[in-house]
Amino acid sequence: MQIPFVDLNAQYLPIDAEVREAVGDVLSSRVFIHGDVVKAFEQEAAAYLGVKHAIGVANGSDALLIALLALGVGPGDEVITVPHTYIATPEAIYRTGAKLVFCDVEPTGWNMDPEQLKKLITPKTKCILPVHIFGQCAEIEKIRAVAGNIPILGDAAQAWGSSRNGKKCGALCDIETFSFYPTKTLGAAGDGGMVVTSNDELAAIVRALRVHGESRRYYNQYHGMNSRLDAIQAAILRIKLRKVDAWNTERAKIADYYRSRFEGTGFALGKVIPGNVHVWHQCVGMTENRDALQKHLTDKGVGCGVYYPVPQHLQICYQDLGYKKGDYPVAESISDKSLALPCWPEMTQDMRQYVADSVVEFYK
Ligand SMILES: *Cc1c(COP(=O)(O)O)cnc(C)c1O
Repeated sequence: MQIPFVDLNAQYLPIDAEVREAVGDVLSSRVFIHGDVVKAFEQEAAAYLGVKHAIGVANGSDALLIALLALGVGPGDEVITVPHTYIATPEAIYRTGAKLVFCDVEPTGWNMDPEQLKKLITPKTKCILPVHIFGQCAEIEKIRAVAGNIPILGDAAQAWGSSRNGKKCGALCDIETFSFYPTKTLGAAGDGGMVVTSNDELAAIVRALRVHGESRRYYNQYHGMNSRLDAIQAAILRIKLRKVDAWNTERAKIADYYRSRFEGTGFALGKVIPGNVHVWHQCVGMTENRDALQKHLTDKGVGCGVYYPVPQHLQICYQDLGYKKGDYPVAESISDKSLALPCWPEMTQDMRQYVADSVVEFYK
């Protein structure tokens, strides 16, 4: 059996007619950027997340940069983030000119370790940037306890729909950002992103920054950029927003099933931290012989992936920061030992079973 790692076709087919109609409406309206459709999506997103402001931008990477700029981060400041994330997270910090400081992740949920964070905060720390990795919220209340009044920016790119202690991811930090890259749990048909906050002042700056720092048309108060959300993407996202909970529930069912099948094997599926609803953007487990398992699964036709093969502190582009192998042992062990399995909502029972059988067979 051939099982792709992700299959956007399966997600798209059932909504094809609805999407075409909504896209057709946008084309007829000739309002391609911002406008009523984007506003409607922003309002629906804010209501879903339980935040005051949801502000559409061009992608999740811009969302991070804009949020950092809105917090006033710049040269001379320090921002603390994790090495176990996608490059977009440290890159946004680097782009502001602030000093990039890494904090290792904890070995259970693979999110920012509040104990290590304690030792990294200095008078120059301007912002703390945890990531809700793989669709599971970081333990924000523990990070908050350490951070005091330092603003926390959450990178929620992978975590639309997840929650912690009854609060939606997006409403956990001072300001949070999402990506609508097509494979994320809420994905557009192209690029898209969002900055969310319940802070009126920050929201006003974010709204200005996405259109060149304009406070009103052609009056530019800040050094901004061009990062707008297309109406076509917003129209599609409105449709998918109504389905995303059902999709996420299905992802969690697959993860539960895998967990039950992998008991007693050498493949330890990621744990759910108490209080969290995990949306399994990636369904990742750890094993001692990852490369051999990956080859075995690939030979069996099961798509799988490594997130991420290089922890960010060891990327070539950050060589000048002077980090070395051994500095962040938890993040490094995830790079060495983790493997992500197919976990998309439309997988049939046969497919789920085939993936699980193939993993179990490897350990026999
Ligand atoms: C996808 C992703 C981003 C970037 O989002 P884009 O929309 O691709 O720019 C940022 N951070 C994390 C953790 C991501 O997974």
